[in-house]
Amino acid sequence: MVGNLKNKNENVICCFCGKPFSLKEAVVLSVQINIESEEIQYLFCHKKHLTEKIDKSIILHSDLADIERDGY
Ligand SMILES: [Zn+2]
Repeated sequence: MVGNLKNKNENVICCFCGKPFSLKEAVVLSVQINIESEEIQYLFCHKKHLTEKIDKSIILHSDLADIERDGY
């Protein structure tokens, strides 16, 4: 999946709060600058911070939707 991040004990930085945390806990965001772009940038974030930032009208993956928006 994330080619250069095979060590799941590695720490990553949450792209919303800037704090380091374990890759194992991270939601991985695959970002393409547009639909035709072949380059992908991976960003990482806490599940809580993703669900807080995304508009409530957006239907999230069921694994994310289960998370309380105001708690872990
Ligand atoms: Zn965060």
